[in-house]
Amino acid sequence: MKIQNRIALIFTILTATIILSFSIFIFTFSRKNIENGFFHRLEVRSDVIAHASLDGNKSKEAIYYDFKEKHLEDLPNEEHFVIGAGDVNKANEIRNKLPLPSSFYDNIIRKEPARYIANDTSYVGLNIADNGKNVIIVSRAVDLYGQEELDNLKNLLIIGFLIAMFFVFTLGKLFSYQIFTPIRQIIRNVKGISAHNLHQRLVVDSAQDEIGDLSNTFNDMLNRLEITFDMQHNFVSNASHEFRTPLTVISGEAELGLSGPEVSDPIKESFQVILRESEKLEHLTASMLSLAQTGFDGTKEQWEKIRIDELILSVKSAIDNMHPENEVRIDFSGLPADEGKLELNGNETLLKAAFTNIVLNGYKYSDNKLVDVRIGFEMNHIVVEVTDRGIGIPDKEIGQIFVPFFRASNTLRYQGYGIGLPLANNIIKMHHGSISVRSKVGEGTRFIIFLPVYIG
Ligand code: ADP
Repeated sequence: MKIQNRIALIFTILTATIILSFSIFIFTFSRKNIENGFFHRLEVRSDVIAHASLDGNKSKEAIYYDFKEKHLEDLPNEEHFVIGAGDVNKANEIRNKLPLPSSFYDNIIRKEPARYIANDTSYVGLNIADNGKNVIIVSRAVDLYGQEELDNLKNLLIIGFLIAMFFVFTLGKLFSYQIFTPIRQIIRNVKGISAHNLHQRLVVDSAQDEIGDLSNTFNDMLNRLEITFDMQHNFVSNASHEFRTPLTVISGEAELGLSGPEVSDPIKESFQVILRESEKLEHLTASMLSLAQTGFDGTKEQWEKIRIDELILSVKSAIDNMHPENEVRIDFSGLPADEGKLELNGNETLLKAAFTNIVLNGYKYSDNKLVDVRIGFEMNHIVVEVTDRGIGIPDKEIGQIFVPFFRASNTLRYQGYGIGLPLANNIIKMHHGSISVRSKVGEGTRFIIFLPVYIG
């Protein structure tokens, strides 16, 4: 989950917990208040009834009832049970009739507040003594109004909670979106920076906050990277250039030595070895120079419209010159009918070098077994598949074959420097393409190259 969403969620959960606790507190407090108020009202009525029944004088009793009727309205389902002193039978009868805990009756006997609620019905009990007489009264009634009030309060709190949550989540999202805007800006800028435009820098906000620090730190890192890249680039380019001249001189001298009429066979052989090795070195320095150039700044190269089938044919003829016995076979059966789908925008020399390296590897690592080169078209991309039946690449090492100078552990008996594939990879990437590989040791290897088709 994105940090932005996580912040909005945490913010919502925190607020929800606070609002919920507050709502529960309000609801519990209000319920207690309403219950107490109702108990009190019921106790007042019980008290009047108890006094009425305590008074033996009938006219006084009537006054009590009259007073109750005039001033105290009847509560819903109001009922009173009066037990005279010593009236054990009635006491038992009431005990059986009412679902009340024994603590309720104990409180009455101890003359302590006896209040209880069961099934929405409120019960109160009083133990009243007057004029030397004693009476117990248990009364009950249902607080319909209070219940309705509580229901309304509950609905209000639930609706309020949901509305609050909606606003909190929406505002939380807006808020976190706002906070992450500068970070998104940095991500966008950083994505646009690659080895080809290392001179680009992030825009630093004048506000001295953490985002400004982050941008400054990143820019510092880019400065260091750029210096290192430049040093590496210059070193490889200069070294390759510097090697070239002495190497040309060495091979020239060796050729001269070979052409001499009175050269003995052992010396001729030595000159041949010198010539061969210096040619290899020349090839190596040329590859290193290309690798450095493609890796650092491919935009210097000249780009043009190229037909892939012609390019692959020229690769094949170059390989035929180098190794006339090769078994490289080109399969044109997948070619699209539309010739426009065979064209791409690129640099011919570089692309030829890339495909030659890949096909030559197939030839080399299969000891000249059949190598299939198939050209096809898929979703606006030219697809070239190069399949050999050679030694394959060990699973654990396949991820490293595009790393400069890496050579797999099963290539000891083959000549090579580990430059061809990184170079090919750089060239394909420069052309906005991609290269992938599938391989099985002892069975063979397949390189699949995708290149975007020319769009006029
Ligand atoms: P090298 O000069 O060693 O061939 P590359 O850069 O062309 O260098 O290839 C790098 C490594 O990838 C090779 O050393 C080899 O281990 C592996 N590799 C490349 N192509 C093949 C292939 N067709 N079959 C087996 N291994 C291959």
